[in-house]
Amino acid sequence: MKIGPYTVSPIVFASFKLDGGCMFGSVPKNLWSKGVPADEENRISLVCRSLVIEDGSRTFLVDVGIGDKWSEKQSAIYGISLNPELRLGYKPAKVTDVILTHLHFDHAGGISFKDENGALALRYPGARVHLQASNLHQAQNPSPKDKASYLAENVDPLRDAKLMLCDGSVEIAPGIIVHRVDGHTAGQQWVEIQGGGERIFFATDLIPTSHHLPLAYHMGYDVCAETLLREKLHFLERAASEGAIVAFQHDPVVEAARVGLNERGQFSVREPVRL
Ligand SMILES: [Zn+2]
Repeated sequence: MKIGPYTVSPIVFASFKLDGGCMFGSVPKNLWSKGVPADEENRISLVCRSLVIEDGSRTFLVDVGIGDKWSEKQSAIYGISLNPELRLGYKPAKVTDVILTHLHFDHAGGISFKDENGALALRYPGARVHLQASNLHQAQNPSPKDKASYLAENVDPLRDAKLMLCDGSVEIAPGIIVHRVDGHTAGQQWVEIQGGGERIFFATDLIPTSHHLPLAYHMGYDVCAETLLREKLHFLERAASEGAIVAFQHDPVVEAARVGLNERGQFSVREPVRL
């Protein structure tokens, strides 16, 4: 899809599974399971979708997938299936800028890999890495609540990266704006791409799938539900009134959609969009 000077393309690094209960927090299973089938272990299918944004001179990659540093046991627990074409990353020599929405493993796992000696190395050593300063701090000092999602193997190698730390809403390139939100985890950032009268909102874990559009449908992983709900309402009101395309990082079926209120007054998909 063309947005102003940019070509925006979705890529899927992997599919994986997480517990459906954790993914829908306080929503009872008899409600969420109507739209999302759970397997015999109560897990639901998800993907790690990223965006590539190119303008001919710079190539931005928004999140880097779950990575390939998983043991057989971990792969089985999370049902990880890597896209073989992207196992070694997305064109590491070409990517000039990596935007990390946050450092949870399913977003930042692909930032590092183990070389032939088992040492950790950066997958995109030449790229600038855009991240909220508060998220780096959180990842280096995780709380008991999100400790399992911040792995040192994805955080420590950043000491060698060309880090571009931001604080709040920042236009990191013309028409590419990151916005800090703190309800899912401290210093998450969602990404707005605008140009030529069109805009894409890459929602990251603020709204991980299209099934999370109704306000109350949010993850049990979120560190502060009240903050998240405030941020999510603001995001959705903007997306609906501006006719923005909301892109979903973890939805295996609906990659993006325009959104609005349905007859019950809940936010929902108005029109699915292929990016
Ligand atoms: Zn997350």
